[in-house]
Amino acid sequence: MTDTSDISHIRNLLTQVQDPEVPVLTIADLGILRNVEFVDGVYEIQITPTFTGCPAMKAIEENISEVLVENGIQNYKVRMVMSPAWTTDWISELGREKLRKYGIAPPSQSTEEHLKAILTGKNKAVACPFCGSVNTRLTSAFGSTACKALHYCDHCRQPFEEFKCH
Ligand SMILES: [Zn+2]
Repeated sequence: MTDTSDISHIRNLLTQVQDPEVPVLTIADLGILRNVEFVDGVYEIQITPTFTGCPAMKAIEENISEVLVENGIQNYKVRMVMSPAWTTDWISELGREKLRKYGIAPPSQSTEEHLKAILTGKNKAVACPFCGSVNTRLTSAFGSTACKALHYCDHCRQPFEEFKCH
């Protein structure tokens, strides 16, 4: 007893769900929201964790429940889809733009480039989200959360966070 309009309605509701660690991004911007399917009378919300150990997933699940229940949707379940694994490549263009406006550098390289950088020991300079300068340096591999690294811009003399590549 459903049609695709219900599913797109639910999808629309879920695009409002924010990421608890980066409240400026929604789970749709991050690419965490994989799919919504109607299975055996239940709306199955498929999400993929950003990476192992990120405690945000529990909060995201709760936020999803809140939005759905508020909108009178009771027959749903949240399912974690582990494969294929999420990578920062899934962050949408809009999401990257929002990150920059928020003062967080989006992942500076694709996952493939990141892996190459690990092998060669050469990391691409991270552009400062405030002034765009690449005259920046890594000050701490861990920022306010494990998902972020702390950098310092030598051009505009401001610290900033980078959403790390995975
Ligand atoms: Zn700067």
